[in-house]
Amino acid sequence: MECIFCRIVVGELPSDTLYQDDEVMAFRDINPLAPTHVLIIPKRHIAFLSDLNDEEVSIVGHMAGVANKLARQEGIAEKGYRLVVSSGEEGGQVVPHLHMHLLGGRKLSDRLC
Ligand code: AMP
Ligand code: ZN
Repeated sequence: MECIFCRIVVGELPSDTLYQDDEVMAFRDINPLAPTHVLIIPKRHIAFLSDLNDEEVSIVGHMAGVANKLARQEGIAEKGYRLVVSSGEEGGQVVPHLHMHLLGGRKLSDRLC
């Protein structure tokens, strides 16, 4: 299995896991860009956001719900936080397994890119 996030899902690679259920998993980013930097991923391998069809796209809502809960757990819900999903090369996606970044704990740039 080549995909690093799939290897995290099956426990082949270690992760600082904060949450999991049947469909999604959340763990701390190995190279945090903010005091809270968590990745929320589907357990099933989906490479890109753009791969999702109309039925499958609800997984992103599920991921956002998990991110909101973790933001409260991390104590950043009131001050604010950012959720980011990149898709594809020009979108800046490096790991080709769909993921949502939860970023917070400091004032983030008001420039998106
Ligand atoms: P992206 O640039 O949106 O594809 O984000 C990929 C993210 O995965 C980066 O923020 C990396 O720091 C993070 N990352 C890569 N490998 C690991 C790992 N083994 N455990 C946790 N986070 C990772
Ligand atoms: Zn994968």
